[in-house]
Amino acid sequence: MNKKMKPESLMMSYGYKPELSEGAVKPPMFLTSTFAFKTAEEGKAFFELAYGLRNKNENEEPGLIYSRINNPNLEILENRLCLWDKADDCAVFESGMSAISTTLLEFLKPGDLLLYSSPTYGGTAHFISHFLPSIGVKCIGFESSHEKEEIIKLVEESGKAENLQLIYLETPANPTNKLIDIEMCAEIARYFSSEDNSVKVAVDNTYMGPIWCHPLEHGADLVIYSATKYIGGHSDLIAGAVLGGHGVMNRVKTLRTFLGNMASPHTAWLLLRSLETLKIRMEKQMGNAVKIADALSDHPMIQEINYLGNLDKNSRSFKIFEKQYSGSGAMLSIKIRGGEKEAFAILNQLKLIKLAVSLGSTESLIQHPASMTHAGMDKEAKIKLGITDNLIRLSVGIENAQDLINDFVNALESIRFNHKNQSEKLILN
Ligand SMILES: *Cc1c(COP(=O)(O)O)cnc(C)c1O
Repeated sequence: MNKKMKPESLMMSYGYKPELSEGAVKPPMFLTSTFAFKTAEEGKAFFELAYGLRNKNENEEPGLIYSRINNPNLEILENRLCLWDKADDCAVFESGMSAISTTLLEFLKPGDLLLYSSPTYGGTAHFISHFLPSIGVKCIGFESSHEKEEIIKLVEESGKAENLQLIYLETPANPTNKLIDIEMCAEIARYFSSEDNSVKVAVDNTYMGPIWCHPLEHGADLVIYSATKYIGGHSDLIAGAVLGGHGVMNRVKTLRTFLGNMASPHTAWLLLRSLETLKIRMEKQMGNAVKIADALSDHPMIQEINYLGNLDKNSRSFKIFEKQYSGSGAMLSIKIRGGEKEAFAILNQLKLIKLAVSLGSTESLIQHPASMTHAGMDKEAKIKLGITDNLIRLSVGIENAQDLINDFVNALESIRFNHKNQSEKLILN
């Protein structure tokens, strides 16, 4: 298969040979824990490669041994995921959190320093602020408003600059859509690298998904996904992925072998099905998001809409957006006029849009970050990062755009009516 073709053309075929599976057009599900060797010599050769006892011969494919190490469904999936991000290699995990925690554990040892962007996904924030310090890793955070020189100063003032090993970014940030400049972080990594220590940059690209941003092209060493979101795209599975160059991926895959947190053949098979429609799903989701952001932008019950398609052209965020992203995605966060009461009233009124956490799926999902996905954060930090009580987060699906707009406007109108009645009562009293 010609790798020069666009990824969407290759999602139905790349990495699968029908002749190895009775001519089946689609990869069957390989529900097997172990694989028979043709000869003892072959088994020995497979193990030598798997354990790094010798280098790969030219054109040699690693042999199948045992499904914790590899499985045809997992292998085809990983090969196809590499195409979007132009990565050398990919490791698929049983969750986004296992992809993230395995990466952090591989690149950080006791005494090391981690620099990370804030806010991040709640689970990541918890792992960084509670687990990593317990094994002696020092963690310092920065925000999207920080300039390069300020971040360098933060690291230098920590007194552990020579122990910096990893810069971990989440951009766009969940739930605020705040952007971090990946190229700037790669420069900071180079600034703190020495001859025998190269500081790595890892980017959680879940919130944008794999179509409109490829962090490796902007200088990142690793890109991470919760495949539960856009990649899976149907709210029916949990999975994660890490992609990057051969050197870093060998390390991630080796730790995965020993933690045993790879995805199952069943999950991999479902993800292969999802990948065939990834691009059309995401294009439709983005198209709907653009229409919703426009239709709601001047509604009197809305204080503010954060959508990457509507950034102020003079802002620093817009410059990062233009450099880093070729699409505006399908995630909106919306500040309602009022507080938690008004935000909840809207969530409770919606009929088509479902009240649930998670994102990137075919159905539209809405939630209240301050009391749900980001409930674990302390109040001050939430306010500082813009996660206020009147903020709701919308993940736009593939439904009819006008039906989604009507659903939202109806909910807004119902609280506007109550709002008005209440103000009138106050005046009468
Ligand atoms: C959901 C999510 C994760 C965690 O992924 P799981 O598949 O739920 O473990 C990590 N990062 C971001 C940005 C997410 O949205």
